[in-house]
Amino acid sequence: MQVRNDTQTGLSAEIKIVPLWAWALAGIAFIAAQFFFNVVVARHSGGPPAWARPLLGLVAGLGGVCFLLLIGYINRDAKRRGMSPTLWTIMALVIPNALGIILYFLLRQPRSSVCPQCGNAVQTGFNFCPRCNYKLSPSCQQCQRVVGVNDIYCPYCGTPLHDQAAPASSPSTKLPG
Ligand SMILES: [Zn+2]
Ligand SMILES: [Zn+2]
Repeated sequence: MQVRNDTQTGLSAEIKIVPLWAWALAGIAFIAAQFFFNVVVARHSGGPPAWARPLLGLVAGLGGVCFLLLIGYINRDAKRRGMSPTLWTIMALVIPNALGIILYFLLRQPRSSVCPQCGNAVQTGFNFCPRCNYKLSPSCQQCQRVVGVNDIYCPYCGTPLHDQAAPASSPSTKLPG
């Protein structure tokens, strides 16, 4: 079965993880850019011509919005990938020319999932939660290799996987009829 890359459908889901503070900062930055180019720059003689000021404000504003939304995205995305959100947010902010952001997208780990027992972020591919030892994916008791959910015998060593798995359902009571 071919798993389709969800780059298109995933984009709206990715935007949803951008935190509220990043949207708020982006809005402030956009308004500030308009104010700077249309009010502050306009007061100084020798600045850009009047027709260019709204354009410059728009370009700078949108640039700031993209930058801040990316910072917010990295802050959330790093967390769910088991990377340090503080470190990567600072790197994305501090390294000039958006190189920190580019670096993040080059170096980021595969998306981690959350341990259902303790809520710790665990990387995909882990068999056990590193914090609470919760078994994240079914594995063979004999050789500890990951096996399929529907496997009855371990494909590596042949050990029966569900030998202790007694039917959990309560004994069915006979219905009068
Ligand atoms: Zn855990
Ligand atoms: Zn095995």
